[in-house]
Formats: sequence, structure tokens, C-alpha cells
Amino acid sequence: MIPVSKAIDIIKRQTGVHGAERIELADSVGRVLAENIVADCDMPPFDRSQMDGFAVTASDTKNAPVTLKIVGESAAGSGWHKTMKRGQAVRIMTGAPVPAGADALARIEITSGTETEVTILEAVKKGIAIVQKGSEIKKGRVVIKRGSPITPNNIATLSAFGYAKVKVGKRPTVAILGTGSEIVDIHKKPGRDQIRNSNSVMLKAMAEQCGAVPETFPIANDDISNLKSQISNAAKNKDILIITGGVSVGKYDLTKAALIELGAKIFFEKVRLKPGKPAVFARLGKTLVFGLPGNPVSAAVTFQLFVRKAIMQLQGSSETVLKKGFAGLAADAKAARDRDTYLPSRLETDETGRLVAVPLRSQGSSDFVGFAQADSLVFLASGQTARAGETVDIVFL
Ligand code: AMP
Ligand code: MG
Repeated sequence: MIPVSKAIDIIKRQTGVHGAERIELADSVGRVLAENIVADCDMPPFDRSQMDGFAVTASDTKNAPVTLKIVGESAAGSGWHKTMKRGQAVRIMTGAPVPAGADALARIEITSGTETEVTILEAVKKGIAIVQKGSEIKKGRVVIKRGSPITPNNIATLSAFGYAKVKVGKRPTVAILGTGSEIVDIHKKPGRDQIRNSNSVMLKAMAEQCGAVPETFPIANDDISNLKSQISNAAKNKDILIITGGVSVGKYDLTKAALIELGAKIFFEKVRLKPGKPAVFARLGKTLVFGLPGNPVSAAVTFQLFVRKAIMQLQGSSETVLKKGFAGLAADAKAARDRDTYLPSRLETDETGRLVAVPLRSQGSSDFVGFAQADSLVFLASGQTARAGETVDIVFL
């Protein structure tokens, strides 16, 4: 049995970085940048007006109200490119270039006047409502680093600097293979002693969320020769194969045996982790293989800790692990004696606005109904006991 941190190190060492490809920016959310994003111009590219009103000389307005001569108009997309003098004003719109000579803006609400003259009713401060050229970023600077994810929040920046096409890590291909003679496809009604396959669609969703291209294979029975042929079929040309079930020590837990008979190299097969002790990591040919426990909660947690790491690393991501944080604990909780423990929990805020993690009342690692509420995991180191109200480490799911 190895510690979680050791398991993660092994995954890190065994996983390479995939190639990159250039794709349309509009299709790139969720992908990982394979190039630095560099500002190809100052931003803003010119002194930019932040509002509708008049470009003025601040000192002219000191004894407001003051009446100034309107000498021109600067609109967004068509500026006024002469030099404004004292005693003059230029009508200006939001997003338009501020004319040379002007050093402040009077917003329209504090003005009155005619087509040719404007009265500024209040004094304005020098620099007010002008966004200086290059104040947001200077040309040539790295705006977003390689390895960052492309998100709805940063995609505007990529657009602004001309990355209509962007270089991103290739999407890893992931095969998903559920095993278990009791497991039936979700389109079927389970017979006596059978249960539906809750893992495959979940893992497909999780893999997609990490940017992978998943392919789901039909459930394999707990029969070694059937298992072997399904495993080698599913692993073909895939970067990663995720198998669930059959990794424990029961008579019909044959996943590891099948992998070994197929010639796979096993890197680890037991981790000091709850839930998810019998997690297997191996390589079959060029394919990285994860054998996750069949219990849906264990499969989810081991995916998030281990498989996610490999999928993100293959894409060149600098964010291969889930975001961490702290929260107050809502109820007493305890780790397993000899295993780091990740308790599925739901985050709330208390009356003071502090984040509180509510461990889900769970019937254990098979309780996917409890897990359905989870948006985080409380981390407790092996042997640790934490009392309600204590601050604990969490990861956000
Ligand atoms: P195993 O890891 O094969 O020993 O399975 C552990 C538990 O998880 C058993 O109760 C299985 O029935 C259950 N299980 C295994 N695979 C799945 C699956 N794909 N969907 C839902 N439950 C599963
Ligand atoms: Mg099984």
C-alpha cells in the first residue's frame, strides 16, 4: 500500500505530454493553452474614453461652471485627430480615442449646452475617465501562460489579441470499460441480483470535463478470457483506459490478473486512500490503465485524484489537480486509521459568510445517492479526528 502522494508522483512520472494542435478560438473553451498568449498591441491601443461626454482640459474647469467651444467629435471607431487647445472641448463617446491636448473627461450628465458650445457644470480632475494607452497591458507582454485552461472568462483576452486560432494540447482519448457480471446497461431493467451501470456514464462525463475524448465500451463479465479480450480491445489506440470493478481481492476480482496476463506493467495496486484503496495503475503497450474500484463513490474519488491528473498532464495543463481550499467542518469527522480520507461533502456558508463543509450522510463508498449532493471532498490525513467547527482542508469537485 502506498501513500496518495506517492501514487500521484508515479502517475506524474509515467504520463507524458501529448502533442498540440491549432483550433478555432470559438471551439476552445475547456482546452489547455499550448502557447503563451502575448499582447500584440498596447491595451488600450490609445487613450480611451470611459464614458459619453466631453474631452476637456481639467484646469479649464477649475472655476466651473465654464463654457467651452466644441471644436470636434471623437466617436468610437473614428477619432478626432487634431490637437485640442485650452478653452476648447471635443464631444466624445465611450470607447473613442481621447484627443491630444485633452486631459480629462466631463461626463454628459454634468454638462449642458448647444451644438457649438458646452457648459461644464462641475470641475473635473485631471485624468478622470480616461484609460491610458497601455495601462491594462503593454505590447509584447505575456497575458496568459501556456498550460492555463481556456475559460469563458479569459477567452475575451485571446480574442482581443488576435488569437482567432489558438494552439492547444490535443485531447487525450479515453476508453471506459465497466466490469462485473451483475452490471447491466442503463437501457435495460436489472434482473434478479443485477444492478445498473452507474460508473460508465459518470466517468465519461468526468473525462469530458477534463477535456478528453471518451469512448464507452460494453460491460465485461467477470470471466478472465472475456475480460482479457475486452480490455485489449478497449485499450487499442487509446491514451488512457479506465476499468472499473474487479480490482479488489474477491474470487471474481480479475481485472489485475487479466492485465498481468496481457503483459501490462503494474505501477501500483493499493493506495492508502479511503475511499479507493484498491486503485490500480498500469501501462498496457502505450496505454495508461487505471483500474478503479467498482463502487461509484470510490470510482469518482479515484478518478478525481488520479485519472484527472493524467488527462490534464497529457494536455500540458499546469492545473492537474483539483482546486484546494479551507472550510469549517459542520460535524465531527474521522479519517481511517491508516488511510488518507476524502469525505464527500456539500459546501454552505454560515451566517458570517464563512465556507462550511457538510460531510454527506453516507452509507459508505457504494452510496451514490448520498454522493449526488457532493460538490467537494473534505481531506483528513490518516488517523486524524476533526471536530465540528474546526477548519479543514477541502478540494472543490
Ligand atoms: P468490485 O470493485 O467489482 O468489487 O465492485 C464493488 C461494488 O461496486 C459492487 O457492489 C459492485 O456491484 C459495484 N459496481 C461495480 N461496477 C459498478 C458499476 N459499473 N456501476 C455500479 N456499481 C458497480
Ligand atoms: Mg465486480
